[in-house]
Amino acid sequence: MRLRILRSGSGGNAILVDAGDARLLIDAGLPADVIVRELAALPILPQDLTAVLLTHEHDDHAKGALTLSRIAGCPVLANEGTIASAGAALDGAQIERFVTGTPFRLGSLMIDPFALPHDAAEPVGFAISQNGSRLVIATDLGSSSDEVVERAGDADMLIIESNYDLRLLSVSPYPWFLKNRILSTTGHLSNDAAAETIRAAAAGRLRTAVLVHLSDINNLTPLARDTVQWTLEREAITHVAVHAVRPNGTSNTYELQ
Ligand SMILES: [Zn+2]
Ligand SMILES: [Zn+2]
Repeated sequence: MRLRILRSGSGGNAILVDAGDARLLIDAGLPADVIVRELAALPILPQDLTAVLLTHEHDDHAKGALTLSRIAGCPVLANEGTIASAGAALDGAQIERFVTGTPFRLGSLMIDPFALPHDAAEPVGFAISQNGSRLVIATDLGSSSDEVVERAGDADMLIIESNYDLRLLSVSPYPWFLKNRILSTTGHLSNDAAAETIRAAAAGRLRTAVLVHLSDINNLTPLARDTVQWTLEREAITHVAVHAVRPNGTSNTYELQ
C-alpha cells in the first residue's frame, strides 16, 4: 500500500491510503476542490476513491466529506457518534457505519478503528493492514496510552499527532481557555508525548514515524522532528525513521511493503 498526507494541520486534514484495490481518504477536512487537486497530482481521480473514512467530526477533518463523497460517488464511513455530531455537515451523504473496536474489510485492507482521547463525540484512530504490513493513524489525541503504544509497536508505520511544543505554547498569543483545551488529556498531543510514544513503540516492529497535525503557532517542524529524534538517540534507537509534515503541508508518498 502507498500513503500520502494530502494536508495536515489545523487548516485541514486528509490522508490518502492506496492499496490498489481500495483507495481510502482518511478525513476530508479541506474544501473538496482542494482535495480533488491534490489527488490529481498523483494522479488519482475522485471517482477512484472507495470511501472517505472520518476519525471525528471536527471541521478540520470533516468539512469536505459531503461534497467530496458526492463528487467521488463513494460513501462516507464513520461511527455513530461522529455521524450524529456531524449533523448537517453530512446531510444527504451516502453514509455507512462502522463500530469502534470492530475491524472491517475494504478490498484487501483490514481496518481496525480504535478509540482515542479527544474532545469530540467518538474519536478514533485507524490500524490499517494488508498482507502483513500495517499502518497506524493516531490523530487527534490529547494523550497517549498503553493501547496506542501497543498498536504503534505492532505497526510498520505510525502517523501520529505532534501538535505543540510546551514552551512555545506557554508563550504563544493563544487565550488561556484555548491553551487549556490543547493541554488537556482530551486535547492535542505534545511533541514530548509523541516522542515518548514512538520511543516505547520502537521496542516493537515500528520502522517509520510521521509527525502530523503540527500547530503553525505553537510548534516548528524541525523542533518536532528533533524532539523525537533526540528522544530516540538518547536510548540509542536508530531503526526508526522520523519525518515531520510542516503545518498545513503535504508529505511525500510513502510505500509500505
Ligand atoms: Zn479534533
Ligand atoms: Zn484536528
